[in-house]
Amino acid sequence: MNQEDLFKNIISHSKEYGFIFQSSEIYDGLSAVYDYGQMGAELKNNLRTFWWKSMVQMHQNIVGIDASIFMHPTTWKASGHVDAFNDPLIDNKDSKKRYRADVLIEEHIAKMMGKAEKEVEKAAKRFGESFDEALYRQTNPRVLEYIEKAKAIENTFKNALELNDLEGIKQLILDCEIVCPISGTKNWTEVRQFNLMFSTQMGSVSEDANTIYLRPETAQGIFVNFLNVQKTGRMKIPFGIAQTGKAFRNEIVARQFIFRMREFEQMEMQFFVRPGTEMTWYDYWKSTRMNWHHTLGFDVKKHQFHDHLKLAHYANAACDIEFEFPFGFKELEGIHSRTDFDLKKHETYSGKKLQYFDPELNESYVPYVVETSIGLDRLFLAVLSEAYKEQILPDGSQRVVLALPFALAPIKAAVLPLVNKDGLAEKAEEIVNALKYDFVIRTEAKDAIGKRYRRHDAIGTPFCITVDYETMENQTVTIRHRDTMEQHRMPIADLKAYLDTHVSLTSLLNKLA
Ligand code: ATP
Repeated sequence: MNQEDLFKNIISHSKEYGFIFQSSEIYDGLSAVYDYGQMGAELKNNLRTFWWKSMVQMHQNIVGIDASIFMHPTTWKASGHVDAFNDPLIDNKDSKKRYRADVLIEEHIAKMMGKAEKEVEKAAKRFGESFDEALYRQTNPRVLEYIEKAKAIENTFKNALELNDLEGIKQLILDCEIVCPISGTKNWTEVRQFNLMFSTQMGSVSEDANTIYLRPETAQGIFVNFLNVQKTGRMKIPFGIAQTGKAFRNEIVARQFIFRMREFEQMEMQFFVRPGTEMTWYDYWKSTRMNWHHTLGFDVKKHQFHDHLKLAHYANAACDIEFEFPFGFKELEGIHSRTDFDLKKHETYSGKKLQYFDPELNESYVPYVVETSIGLDRLFLAVLSEAYKEQILPDGSQRVVLALPFALAPIKAAVLPLVNKDGLAEKAEEIVNALKYDFVIRTEAKDAIGKRYRRHDAIGTPFCITVDYETMENQTVTIRHRDTMEQHRMPIADLKAYLDTHVSLTSLLNKLA
């Protein structure tokens, strides 16, 4: 199956099984806004809890807060968002479709690099074992040409971005002969800057002074609380403040399902360090965060680092952890060395000192900040697309299974009475009642047992516990494993300990050590 079809199947699966619905669907939906259904909300909560515990619970020097979505409007002047939180947009006059100019160029560069990789792959196949890949990369004229072209475009693009040269960006799109994927033409408008913040009015009088913004990132809620937390928590540098919460961006091009939404959730951690040590911490958080992704147990080749071409106005180093979504490698998480930019700006705009007294150095300074910032919805999509598997079983039948890490599964175990009579359903309920305090656990009696197994495979339930006639005699049940579909018998009395070992978050957190 090609990746496009796979992605379509993932989207329809997530609707069919109650993971994600289009927002206000009965009114034909709202563009790039989604709701999480009964399964989605559980999975999302589990991802959030895993992140929170790994940041806050597992680090003595990181604490968590929950700041408001609304903030004083000067916050966004100070942070640079009012003046500089723009994306360059361009329209195709024939299709009337709107694009981000930077994305069009970046995709063109990626295509060029992809062609070079294809050449290498082809040669590797042709030459077999005697293939010297490094030499081929250095000497093959076609590979060199693709890479040189891509690098030249990248350089021109970087310069244009730095100079905010919108005409230069348009010229580059024309020079690269980039066409609109819908109309197939190069009939482009000028490139314009577009501010991504949503604004609204606070109070009853709609004057300009009352304009406030829906936060476009959660980070600023941490910066303005830096001293509150440091003082009340008696935090010593280096220390971190973590937060999860909604953020809003009026994205120009919002496609690809929950990858790019107008309302989404971020999980951010700002780590405050002594100036001059930021690069050490930047490297530390790069590897710590990559390791965190690897604990989910998916193929390590699915993640890669990507250094930023153009550093944001606040950063002295920045990279993304990219994930290979069904539509290619894209940003999942950003790691940024934000210097003292934000705290200094807030000092200037608020007139309040935001400094830390370092007892070891016996001096005060504005700390430097290393940030890790991940979109919860993007993480959800990464996990969902990696877990989704269409399988043909040895007996020729088919199943869809969500091979989620057990600890993240929305339902940890289903207790299924083999038949809905002779007290089996009551027995199942009794088991649920004993386990429900510790695990999300469900029972259902409708449909043949095989059908019920398939339903739970499709939502990723790690274990199906079947209550049969033997249960009534000797207090044992069968337990079926989602991935192997193998079953074995087990005393009811052992279920809690068994589930604890296999489905608790502790097993994932242990891997982080
Ligand atoms: P992109 O380049 O894809 O627009 P960004 O670099 O603007 O992303 P950041 O400002 O670094 O993103 O935000 C941190 C994280 O928040 C991103 O890595 C991503 O996971 C998430 N994120 C950002 N914008 C969106 C969005 N519109 N929808 C969902 N998640 C988002």
